[in-house]
This record gives sequence, C-alpha cells and structure tokens, in this order.
Amino acid sequence: MLNIVLFGPPGAGKGTQSAKLINKYALVHLSTGDIFRANIKNQTALGNLAKSYIDKGQLVPDEVTIQMLESECNKHPKAKGFIFDGFPRTHAQAAALDTFLKSKGTGIGMMLALEVEEEELRKRLLLRGKESGRADDQDPAVIQKRIDVYNAETMPVKAYYNAQKKYFGVNGIGKIDAIFNNLCRIIDTYLQAAAKSASKKIVAKKTAAKKSKKLVPVKKTAKKVAKKQAKRMVKKATNQKTAKKITKKVAKKQAKRVAKKVTIKKTVKKTAKKLAKKQVKQVVKKIIAKKAGKKAAKKTTKKASIKRITKKGKRR
Ligand code: ADP
Repeated sequence: MLNIVLFGPPGAGKGTQSAKLINKYALVHLSTGDIFRANIKNQTALGNLAKSYIDKGQLVPDEVTIQMLESECNKHPKAKGFIFDGFPRTHAQAAALDTFLKSKGTGIGMMLALEVEEEELRKRLLLRGKESGRADDQDPAVIQKRIDVYNAETMPVKAYYNAQKKYFGVNGIGKIDAIFNNLCRIIDTYLQAAAKSASKKIVAKKTAAKKSKKLVPVKKTAKKVAKKQAKRMVKKATNQKTAKKITKKVAKKQAKRVAKKVTIKKTVKKTAKKLAKKQVKQVVKKIIAKKAGKKAAKKTTKKASIKRITKKGKRR
C-alpha cells in the first residue's frame, strides 16, 4: 500500500496536487475538509458540529475527526493506498492514524509537505474565497486564525514524521505541473526503494529457507554423532564398572589366598611346634629309657660280680 500524507498550510495547494496524484498512482483521496463540507451541505449532525468550528477558523475536535477519518478509510477496503489531505492536523491525529493503519497491517509511507510563505497563502485564500464562495476563505480574520492554528497545532506534526525519516518538503510556489513533478520524483524514489527492499526481503526469505533446509541434515548427523558418542560413553562407563568389579573379585581372591597362606603357615608352625614337642618328649623318653637301661645293666653286672665273688669265695 502507498499511503501519503499531503501536508501544508491552508491554501498551499494540497487539494490541487491531490487530484493529480490520485490519477497517477490510483490512490483514494481522503480530504477531511471536503468530508466536513459535504456533511455541512447535507446538514448531518457531524456537519453541524464541524461548521461551528470551521466558521471560526478552529480545528474540529480530534475525537470527532479521527472517528470520521477511520470510518471513511473503512469504506475503501480494496484501496491500493490513500492520500490523506488535511489530516493529520495534530500530534494526536498523527498517532491515531499510525495506530489505525498498523491495525490494518500498513502504515504511512511518507509525508509530502508543500511549503508556501504566509503572504502568498493569504492572497491565494482570498482569491479562492471569491471564486468558490467558501465562507472561511473570505474573512481575513478567519484566514489569519487558520494560519495561526496551523503554526501552533499542525506544524508539530512535521516533527512527528521527520523523526521517522518520512518528511519530504517541496516548494509549493511555482507552476502546478512543476510542483507535481517534484512530488512525483519523491514518490517514485520511495516506490523504487520499497520494491528493492521487498525483493531483498524475498531473497532473504528464500536463502533463509534454503539454509534451514541445509541445516536439517546437519542437525540429523549431529544427532546421530551425539547418539554414538553417548553410546560409547555408556560402554566405557559400564566397562569401567565391570573392570572395577573384576578387580574387586581378584582382590578378594588374592586376599583369600593370602589369608589361606597365613593360616597354612600358622598351622605349619603349630604342627611344627607340636611335632617338636613330641620329638622332645620322645628324645627325653629315650634318654630316660637309656639311662634306666644302663642303671639296670649296672645293677645286674654288680649282682653278677657279687655272685661270682661269693661263688669264688665259697670255692675257696
Ligand atoms: P485548508 O484550506 O485550511 O487546508 P481544508 O479544506 O483542509 O482547509 O479544511 C477546512 C477546515 O476544516 C479547516 O479550517 C478546519 O476547521 C477543518 N478541518 C479540516 N481538516 C481538519 C482536521 N484534520 N482536524 C481538524 N479540523 C479540520
């Protein structure tokens, strides 16, 4: 959508340039001044209310104006874009327009401002008053009031769009077609840039889609690799566990063996001791027995010699 705010003081030529622009760019022209005047002509409630302000050169209250503009916009759901002429005229109207367009998925592309000095404005408005019969263009006091209101309340809207880098000023003094060409140059540059960024976005989307497609197999292989690694790690861990178990078993066995050896040594020592005791006893016994045998033999030899002696004596 191409939404343009056509900006400028009363009598700057917004109506004239709007008519040419909507023809060239197939846009819908929404002029709040025209809508109010149509309502005044038809004597609607809105028209009666608006008249009381317009006749004094004052602005119609924001609430009424914003509501009216939104309902006018909604009457053109298939519009390729709008030229807002005479709106927004206050900061509140500008903010409301942004919110409204955002809700429709669009926004303001640019503000085109027709710059005309005050003296020229007064002349133009008085001339228009004579030709059209518009009451607010015939009274110099009302004209001055409108210019003052523009400077006080409407000028800040320029800063609003300037902050968004959407403000473009064009000299509003000169031939109508020359001014129109200047406006068209700005619009065409904007459209070219918009087309470029749109195609860039499409290319970026496509490359992003390609990248994400490429990323899928990478992700898959990464997952596979991760799974394998996880398996390997689990294997290692279980191997370590079994290794630990095995070493524990081995250690137990060794411990048992050592314990056995120790007990064997102990029993060997014990039996050796026992044996040694037995042997000692036996040796002692033998010795005692030997001694006893020797004594007995002595005794018998003694007895025998006594006998022999006594026998000898007897013989004598
Ligand atoms: P101008 O030649 O002053 O730009 P317009 O035809 O745009 O005249 O508007 C005529 C009158 O309608 C204004 O002086 C003002 O009283 C009223 N009007 C138009 N647009 C607005 C607006 N956006 N907010 C408040 N009042 C407006």
